[in-house]
Amino acid sequence: MCPNCFSSGFTNFPSYRKFEAFEAELHQKLSWQQLHRVAVQPATAADFYEPDVAYRCAACTEVWALSPPDNAWRGYFLPVADAKAHRRRLRHLDTLKGIIGLAGLLALATLLYFLTR
Ligand SMILES: [Zn+2]
Repeated sequence: MCPNCFSSGFTNFPSYRKFEAFEAELHQKLSWQQLHRVAVQPATAADFYEPDVAYRCAACTEVWALSPPDNAWRGYFLPVADAKAHRRRLRHLDTLKGIIGLAGLLALATLLYFLTR
């Protein structure tokens, strides 16, 4: 991260308007060759890391990963290491929601069972 690329990333784009503003800044930095598009490193099974596009900063060599928003997906634009950690956090959160949902269903089923006896 540096003034040439971005001083901070985005863990999500809360609206499409925010993404458009970011995209305009990104395109400007690309046209001024402050950032260069680079190949996305293939994901390993352990890191669930699947950005669509990656960019390297010409000044600090930071590689940024971009996953654009798409319907319910809010996307992100983060340095690769942060993007991997972010994806892992989201994955754990989804697992936790699944467990809580299942526990809730079991509690409801148990309650209904005892109420209808
Ligand atoms: Zn930079």
